[in-house]
Amino acid sequence: MSIVEQPLTTIAEPLYARMTDTTKALVVQELQQTLGKAHVLHTPYDVALYEYDASIERARPDIVVLPSNNQEVAAIVKIASRYQVPVVPRGAGTGLSGGAIPVYGGIVIAFARMNRILSIDYDNLRATVEPGVVNIHLSQAINPHGYAYIPDPSSQRSCTIGGNVGENAGGPHTLIYGVTTNHVLGLEIVTPEGEIVEIGGETYDMPGYDLTGLLIGSEGTLCIVTKIIVRIVPVAEAVKTMIAVFDVMEDASNTVSEIIATGVIPAAIEMMDQMILQAVEADTHAGYPMDAAAVLLMETEGLRESVDAQLEQIVAICEKNHARVVRIAADEAERQLLWAGRKNAFGAVGRISPEFYVQDGVVPRTQLPYVLHCISDICQRYNLKVGNVFHAGDGNLHPLILFDAQVPGEIERVRLAGHEILEICAAVGGSITGEHGVGIEKQAEMALIFSEADLRIMQQVRTAWNPQQLFNPGKLFPLPGRCAEMRQL
Ligand SMILES: Cc1cc2nc3c(=O)[nH]c(=O)nc-3n(C[C@H](O)[C@H](O)[C@H](O)COP(=O)(O)OP(=O)(O)OC[C@H]3O[C@@H](n4cnc5c(N)ncnc54)[C@H](O)[C@@H]3O)c2cc1C
Repeated sequence: MSIVEQPLTTIAEPLYARMTDTTKALVVQELQQTLGKAHVLHTPYDVALYEYDASIERARPDIVVLPSNNQEVAAIVKIASRYQVPVVPRGAGTGLSGGAIPVYGGIVIAFARMNRILSIDYDNLRATVEPGVVNIHLSQAINPHGYAYIPDPSSQRSCTIGGNVGENAGGPHTLIYGVTTNHVLGLEIVTPEGEIVEIGGETYDMPGYDLTGLLIGSEGTLCIVTKIIVRIVPVAEAVKTMIAVFDVMEDASNTVSEIIATGVIPAAIEMMDQMILQAVEADTHAGYPMDAAAVLLMETEGLRESVDAQLEQIVAICEKNHARVVRIAADEAERQLLWAGRKNAFGAVGRISPEFYVQDGVVPRTQLPYVLHCISDICQRYNLKVGNVFHAGDGNLHPLILFDAQVPGEIERVRLAGHEILEICAAVGGSITGEHGVGIEKQAEMALIFSEADLRIMQQVRTAWNPQQLFNPGKLFPLPGRCAEMRQL
């Protein structure tokens, strides 16, 4: 029987029972012998911190371990395999799709202690880091020498490069330069058998299958990453940052499509709507207009002459699309302030709502006006407030749906609205995730864009790498039989 004919249920992952107290005691003992008592957390109080990430999902691990090197990670994996216990890698837990949540309990490997920048090679434009390095720490180390690491998720002050690899993270500046996968040359990983293996390497374009590409974005389901070789680039000679202010949302969306269509690709085009602008301005005081329908935050960089030329073109397109004003940051301080507003936007929304749910869909840029209308209609129908702050240049939407979990039934309405938004994204030829991954949150929605045959091939890959399916079980794939069910929702 060929792969595509095989029923999904025969290759779907097993459901794990929670660890018994006896097994847990034995596993804890072995782990303590390997890592020392201080680095094995196992009381309900100690592990409670690891039961959540930035999504709305929760599940408590049985044990949390904090290894300090690859050998310890390999030893943890071997112990877990012997006792048939699930293993879930965790960076900073800023994931928005529940990737680091241990659905079946088991062992969470937290990488907080593996946070060293191992080497920086300016001559060959690369750096080697451990997975627990916080994204911005690499940039802060190399910026003074005139170099940059491009992927810059808005969470970069806390998320880790290991977590970025797990999710294939993007960020405002990945519009022109590409997401994490375009900036990673090689990985050191621990396999489900506990072997330490090097994938890819320091040179570009290694022959054979692109295993580095396969593992980036695999959400901890195929391997545990213990080292990452990344590309670094020289800082651009010139950079100009501007905001364009619009009274009509549709004009802002049309501006995005037109800028990209003319072949002028800025380094970043971010959009914020009125609700977000009001929260951001109250929080950061960056000078964003609180009465505008939408603002585009744009950046262009490169050689001085080309930046000036691009800037002129962008301003002309904004004006043609009825921008009320285009303001160019006068200096580095103003530029940093504008970016601080954008990058703190999720946090700023905390001022206006106790909780919010971030969706992550992608649409063709020309569909932005239509899909933004749909999002507003859907949320109105479910009696929910929504704000939009997103990577507009990529067509990567992030509706923030506000809610209060204390209000009975509200979280269910939020989930249903989120599902309908993704249905629209899929229907217009987009995707159910641009950068936050599938995790637990979007397992069912995978069926909106993949056929059973597509999913079966992905499951085969997972089974080949991870035969016992102990690495991050319960993620990524729709549960058996759910594809058809979700299509009928
Ligand atoms: C305010 C805010 C803004 C955000 N902005 C962006 C943005 O602009 N762009 C974007 O892409 N995302 C964004 N995110 C989402 C999140 O920050 C990213 O997905 C980030 O990559 C997660 O990193 P982390 O270290 O927190 O990983 P975690 O959440 O801990 O884990 C994420 C996934 O990676 C896996 N993983 C972690 N470490 C390893 C490892 N060593 N080996 C194998 N797998 C591993 C985990 O199992 C999990 O599946 C944002 C989140 C927040 C809260």
